[in-house]
Amino acid sequence: MVKKDISVTLQSCPSKKKKTAGKKIAKTKTDLRERLVEIFRLLHEEYGPQKCFLNHDTPFQLLVATILSAQCTDKTVNIVTEELFRHFSTPEEFAAGELSVLETLVHKCGYYRAKARHIKEAAIKICSDFDGKLPSTMEELVTLPGVGRKTANVVLADAFGLPGLPVDTHVIRLSNLIGLVKTKDPVKIEEILCNAFPEERKGELGELSHLLIIHGRSCCAAGRPACEKCIIQKLCNTHLNREQEKKHVTHTEIP
Ligand code: SF4
Repeated sequence: MVKKDISVTLQSCPSKKKKTAGKKIAKTKTDLRERLVEIFRLLHEEYGPQKCFLNHDTPFQLLVATILSAQCTDKTVNIVTEELFRHFSTPEEFAAGELSVLETLVHKCGYYRAKARHIKEAAIKICSDFDGKLPSTMEELVTLPGVGRKTANVVLADAFGLPGLPVDTHVIRLSNLIGLVKTKDPVKIEEILCNAFPEERKGELGELSHLLIIHGRSCCAAGRPACEKCIIQKLCNTHLNREQEKKHVTHTEIP
């Protein structure tokens, strides 16, 4: 099957080109879906299959690691959890553990008091309300202390293989720069991107998040995006708008 070049389609549409000068490309849900699918394909081709950056053996361990990852690098979390999971591993062990010991073990991750308390309280609730098993629905996960939609989506996607799009700072930034959304609200971004992604591929939403994150870290860094070598530049509003402005300047400069 011949793959459709969406960048060409979008740029070569005369009515869109004339009216918007490259400013609003994803006008309909179909436009957005096609762009998302193509962005996924290009990023996947560039970076390969992506999996969770946080080391874990069980869904509950991933929950713990994700709580610890707030305002902390994945590298530090992986160093901390290697030691932490030797002391405590299951919800029962975390629930029974001394809070002060837990605080010491997670100290390097920052906000250690709040993080240790949330982990212990979440473990207690899992034992009391969910029979010691981490629940696997968004509605249940967000009832756990310290667990918001982002953490719940990480667990859904990476631990249970269910649809879930974790929206972190990179996903917020890139989806706005590319022009997929026009909001900084993570819940709205999650809703827009999830709704636009093909129904039969919802299980890949977690990987879409990982791909945007890795692209945000390696090419589209905050404040210094390397647009000239970006593999999704033809699908990105920021790049297209800049190109349009350059053309405009060049034309007005010619006597
Ligand atoms: S073209 Fe530039 S702004 Fe757009 S995603 Fe690539 S690096 Fe980021």
